[in-house]
Amino acid sequence: LATPPPASIRKLDDSVINKIAAGEIIIQPANALKEMLENSIDARASSIEILVKDGGMKLLQITDNGHGINREDLPLLCERFATSKLAKFEDLESIMTYGFRGEALASISHISRLSVVTKTADSQLAYKAHYYNGQLASPNFKSTTANVEPKPIAGKDGTQIIVEDLFYNIPSRLKALRSKSEEFSKILDVIGRYAVHSEGVGFNCKKFGESYQILSTRPNLPLKERIRVVFGTSIANDLLDIALDGDETKEEGESAKEKYGLIKVKGAITSSSYDNKKKIQPVFFINNRLVACDPLKRAITSVFQYFLPKGSHPFIYLSLEIDPQNVDVNIHPTKREVRFLHEDEIIELVVDKVHLVLSNVDKSRKFKTQT
Ligand code: ADP
Ligand code: MG
Repeated sequence: LATPPPASIRKLDDSVINKIAAGEIIIQPANALKEMLENSIDARASSIEILVKDGGMKLLQITDNGHGINREDLPLLCERFATSKLAKFEDLESIMTYGFRGEALASISHISRLSVVTKTADSQLAYKAHYYNGQLASPNFKSTTANVEPKPIAGKDGTQIIVEDLFYNIPSRLKALRSKSEEFSKILDVIGRYAVHSEGVGFNCKKFGESYQILSTRPNLPLKERIRVVFGTSIANDLLDIALDGDETKEEGESAKEKYGLIKVKGAITSSSYDNKKKIQPVFFINNRLVACDPLKRAITSVFQYFLPKGSHPFIYLSLEIDPQNVDVNIHPTKREVRFLHEDEIIELVVDKVHLVLSNVDKSRKFKTQT
């Protein structure tokens, strides 16, 4: 049989490119929500309200009190690779914001019906706009040419992003999603992790049509109280602080900061007396980014095995601050991983600290029971 001739190479349409790209970043509603939470935090919000309908598939609405968006920037809001956070590639080395690629809202606008209401402090009015495939659209999302101008309306300072009918145009993705309640619990999990980590921000989350808050924190609650709201009282009552200062941690006369770029570690873990049968994925932030960091997870889990009875699981929240020049934040489309230099050494330092804290408590407890 003769080999068929090759098909000719053609450029994909922009709309195809954008839909493919969107599918890589936004796999489930919780991914869209995370991007929008991060945008609100980047906008220096101290309050973020989240409203969810049908596991986020029908509606995801995020309302913040951040700095808002200038009216003249609205045409670019959902354009791919349009951002207010990064100007040149080198900026990535010192980037302090969550966002830098200008891809999230663009992606979401290609796979949902996206609207925004936003007001800056120096504008009298708020503006409402709708988007379809990255472009301003009419209020019914049908046209990207007629009736697309942002409309002035009354409103408060800040930004509200409304995402309706997520994945309406990707039936395969819609089918692959879990039930509404499972997608909702993933959303709640993301909010909870940010609520634990983001000291200066209050979070409120409601389901559409229900009046009570499913999760509610105020800004500047102490860490222990934030953990109580999100993970419950028994965990909150059994927490040990973890704190490590890279300047003061010395190895052969050199500090961990000089040697490995480790600036500091903060967090809290449950003690060895906390007996929990439910597995909770550790809450890890590296330079304020929520990451999975499997090597750190494995190392810490094995420390806990010395201290916990079999079948019992700890709660772990750790926030690592590493010299940004040593961290590559651009290695994963959903940013759930970062790469950093001296990973083994840094993990070892953190693990040693956790070990020390756990065994000090164990010692003092034994001492108490002996006397
Ligand atoms: P990125 O965060 O990487 O810049 P996004 O697509 O998430 O890309 O957002 C595009 C731009 O829209 C941001 O750079 C920011 O200027 C603006 N923006 C998005 N969400 C908000 C918000 N909640 N408050 C203020 N500005 C926002
Ligand atoms: Mg963003």
